[in-house]
Amino acid sequence: MKFNDIEFDTYFKNYPDAKGFFGRYGGSYIAPELQTAMQEISDAYQTICKSRKFISELRRIRKEFQGRPTPISHLARLSDKIGTGVQLYAKREDLNHTGAHKLNHCMGEVLLAKYMGKKKVIAETGAGQHGVALATAAAYFGLECDIYMGAVDIKKQAPNVARMKILGARIIEVKEGLQTLKEAVDAAFAAYCREYKDAIYCIGSVVGPHPFPLMVRDFQSVIGIEAREQFIEMTGELPDAVVACVGGGSNAMGMFSGFLNDPVDIYGIEPLGRGPAMGDHAASLSFGEEGIMHGFNSIMLKDEKGEPAPVYSVASGLDYPSSGPEHAFLHDIGRVKYDMVNDDDTIDAFYALSRMEGIIPAIESSHAVAYGMKLAKTMGKGSVLICLSGRGDKDMDYIIEQYGIRE
Ligand SMILES: *Cc1c(COP(=O)(O)O)cnc(C)c1O
Repeated sequence: MKFNDIEFDTYFKNYPDAKGFFGRYGGSYIAPELQTAMQEISDAYQTICKSRKFISELRRIRKEFQGRPTPISHLARLSDKIGTGVQLYAKREDLNHTGAHKLNHCMGEVLLAKYMGKKKVIAETGAGQHGVALATAAAYFGLECDIYMGAVDIKKQAPNVARMKILGARIIEVKEGLQTLKEAVDAAFAAYCREYKDAIYCIGSVVGPHPFPLMVRDFQSVIGIEAREQFIEMTGELPDAVVACVGGGSNAMGMFSGFLNDPVDIYGIEPLGRGPAMGDHAASLSFGEEGIMHGFNSIMLKDEKGEPAPVYSVASGLDYPSSGPEHAFLHDIGRVKYDMVNDDDTIDAFYALSRMEGIIPAIESSHAVAYGMKLAKTMGKGSVLICLSGRGDKDMDYIIEQYGIRE
């Protein structure tokens, strides 16, 4: 399929290019000391990802440990309630072990670390979701796991901190600056510079310097590959639309990669939060501009000084001031339409899915559900496949505190 001069039959061969660019976006803008380490990861990945042994081991782990394939559920009651005839479906990444899609790339990254002979994995975490997934993978493979976390976040995220510790990870408290995610990223990068001979850095989304946007997309593409096959088997055809929420963009890229070469409308949903004023949302592709941060060129939200702007979302997994370079590219060429959902519609969707379908979604995923419901109201006929990136257990305390339990 050709779309705006981009040939999608050969898309995955050509994007990213050898230097990690998706058009103008991506690349590797990091200190020379780190460049060597990233090159080592990139070279190892290019060889290992083609090895039969690696592929079959990852397949086995996905089946026996992660619980894959995850099913697609027909959201029949919710579709009936909307009443336009449009049918909604959900790809159930919430049924992954640990409750979200993040394990898809963490198992891949740590298996790669093992093949490279590394003893340790290093990462930062904000809300703790990436840290828990990585600590799980490290425990499974028997590697050490160092998680850098801001002191403020450690206080806020006590249950996830406990989970990581129970899984055997070492939590390194970062007390610089605002003591949150940004400082944790800096500290983790600095540690990686010191320890790269024995350790590998594991990024939590399709962001960061090359080869991470490529690698994480590849590991997450299992979502789209399974979903396409399952959907055709269930309904005899392709969905008319596919929807996923976009923070860094890994669950979305995994889902979208299965449908880029198909006549399917694709929607990436960003958090509009409390509204369009700077600081009230985290809709980087909708409101941002081109810039470099965390080692890659993409579209980002900047403050007056050109630094990453403060962002907000009701979903802690979506409050990142940029998105992966491939999303910036797909945005510019128009293959994926990026739109937004605000907090209120997100919480309505959270309750709708819980009450009508018996599925309590993560607040992140509820953004995609809300948009799927909106599409179903306007489309008139057809089908919408939603990527349900995770379950809502982690959000219970927050929902009860902020919104109460609805009658
Ligand atoms: C972390 C997270 C996200 C956001 O990350 P992406 O890289 O954009 O997928 C979305 N949903 C859930 C459940 C998460 O835990």
